[in-house]
Amino acid sequence: MHNAALGALGLNWRYLAFDVHPENLRTAIDAAKALQFIGLNLTVPHKVLAVEMMDELDEAARTWGAVNTVRFEARDAGGEWKPLAEFGDDVPAAIRSRGFNTDADAIIHALHADLDPQLLRGAGVLLLGAGGAGRVAALRLAAEGVGVLNLVNRTAQKTEKLAGEIRRRYPQLQVNIGYPKGSIDVVINATSLGLEPGDAMPLDESRFSLRQARAAYDMIYRPAETPFLKSAKAAGCLAANGLGMLLYQGAKAQELWTGQPAPIAVMRRALEANIYGH
Ligand code: NAP
Repeated sequence: MHNAALGALGLNWRYLAFDVHPENLRTAIDAAKALQFIGLNLTVPHKVLAVEMMDELDEAARTWGAVNTVRFEARDAGGEWKPLAEFGDDVPAAIRSRGFNTDADAIIHALHADLDPQLLRGAGVLLLGAGGAGRVAALRLAAEGVGVLNLVNRTAQKTEKLAGEIRRRYPQLQVNIGYPKGSIDVVINATSLGLEPGDAMPLDESRFSLRQARAAYDMIYRPAETPFLKSAKAAGCLAANGLGMLLYQGAKAQELWTGQPAPIAVMRRALEANIYGH
């Protein structure tokens, strides 16, 4: 999606993937800086490790405690830090890294764009999973002003720790551990259950029926329809998979690097062609 976007913008840049061992992360970031890379994306487990390695952190990266996008910057003639994209071939020697988080907003964007633009304000939410993505989703949903957040995770300790963190940061929000009794607005799968054929369902259907939910979102996008999403559709829920999350975090990263609006339709088409082959 990134190379398609760069092509559409007429930029002679390339987006490349590198496997980096966590112990080499600092060296890799320093190397990218020395090589005058425009920026980087980071994925698990680098997102949290990189927080300590940035010269500067954007507010979202600081708030959510994770960096998924890095932009390299240099000082212009007036002494202001600007993206390297603005310097052409004339890049000053002193470059700094600035860490951003585009994942958290992408969750909200995807829920609104792919399910219902009015979905979240005051909403009842059931969030399944408290790993990296689940934790950021829970905190970002709390910041968005949902009404009640119900947390379920296989490892209870993580749910308790997360609930404690949310209660400290968002004391007005009602946070419950476990399945809700009545109806809710949206159930979100942030576990990895559904990635592999034969995986169990991410929720205990004897304790929560998908008929209790108006909408269902699965962060998984491959396969396009997990058993969770299939059951949600059968139960009459509005339903969407995680492709939008991937798209919107990438689009925001593009905008941070290029300073131009991201060509969303081009990026979506490239993603769909790459992931689903159509
Ligand atoms: P993670 O940190 O490894 O967390 C995995 C989560 O799944 C934890 O809550 C874990 O529970 C749960 N889980 C794993 N195996 C389980 C099992 N057998 N039974 C019950 N629960 C199980 O991973 P992550 O980065 O948060 O990613 C979570 C999911 O979100 C993945 O499917 C990933 O593909 C997806 N994701 C999508 C996007 C997107 O752009 N669409 C972005 C990020 C992530 P425990 O805490 O008990 O281990």
